[in-house]
Amino acid sequence: MNEATEKKKVIFSAVKPTGALTLGSYAGALKNWIAMQNAYECFYCVADMHSITVRLTPADFRKNTIEMLAMYLALGVDPEKCTLFVQSHVPAHAELSWVLNCNTLYGEAKRMTQFKEKSKKDPDNVNVGLFDYPVLMAADILLYQAEFVPVGQDQKQHVELARNIAQRFNGRYSPTFVLPEPVMPEYGAKIYGLQDPLSKMSKSDGNPNDCVYLADDADTIMRKFKAAVTDSGTAIKYDSAAKPGVSNLLTVYSVFSGVAVEKAEKEFEGCGYAEFKKRVGEAVCEFLRPVQSEYRRLLADKAYINSVMKNGAEKASRVARRTLSKVYRKVGFIALE
Ligand code: AMP
Repeated sequence: MNEATEKKKVIFSAVKPTGALTLGSYAGALKNWIAMQNAYECFYCVADMHSITVRLTPADFRKNTIEMLAMYLALGVDPEKCTLFVQSHVPAHAELSWVLNCNTLYGEAKRMTQFKEKSKKDPDNVNVGLFDYPVLMAADILLYQAEFVPVGQDQKQHVELARNIAQRFNGRYSPTFVLPEPVMPEYGAKIYGLQDPLSKMSKSDGNPNDCVYLADDADTIMRKFKAAVTDSGTAIKYDSAAKPGVSNLLTVYSVFSGVAVEKAEKEFEGCGYAEFKKRVGEAVCEFLRPVQSEYRRLLADKAYINSVMKNGAEKASRVARRTLSKVYRKVGFIALE
């Protein structure tokens, strides 16, 4: 590491491959990842260990992991500029998470709203991993001494938990971890469903028409946008309380066209809802056309994907092991001579 890179602040972020990436994953997280990789030391991963809190078919799960990595690359995540890896290839994540479990209070983990929501959605599979996954997420972040964590709104509370755990560990032993902060986009921190503009667009649950996947073909994307729910009235104005459907569509348009929301409102003045929805869909298709062709090319290049995973795992492991050794020493584990 030269002096210039040493000075760069560290970013960590991940997405779990429980399903394919959506417009929401891009808006809330990946768009920021790509913007940040030039100025920061970035660690980005496919969080496969987080995925098994839900039941997945192993063959589909393996496919999702590779497709997610290929989509990151196609969107512009550059393994020459950042460290890109698959979480289970770096055992330090599981190892640190055990130490952090012993420094996390049951009461604070129980307050996590995602745990409450997900337990309600799938009451037959409320496993200990689902309860504990924010602690594994804290390990992900703290291993790399990340200062910033680009996330959507739903993950803000988990980054705050990671910060509290780090603070507790630093106070109990001695300064060890950098305290992380969530970074959220001004618009797009929460993209809502196209059929239900009051709930988050989610890749792994809900109505498939509610959610647009980055790998959806153009006809499917246009069909989903044409069927999107709007609001009463005719104005195309950003007002998330009074006009959640229109505001969500304006946000999507802004994220994918690069036009600021205020400017987009002017652009759509006097436009009917049908035409508005069509133009939002077209902006998304236009953005995704070159991305999808690169995605297909990458998926066919297994050797390249394997080399990205291998190099990424080696780079990430080197940094992660440094933090883990420090932690093991501080808690009093005996190092082998
Ligand atoms: P997940 O899909 O839960 O692994 O989340 C991956 C990242 O994308 C996290 O930073 C989430 O906060 C973000 N994200 C997921 N869904 C959305 C959404 N609908 N809107 C904005 N951000 C999202």
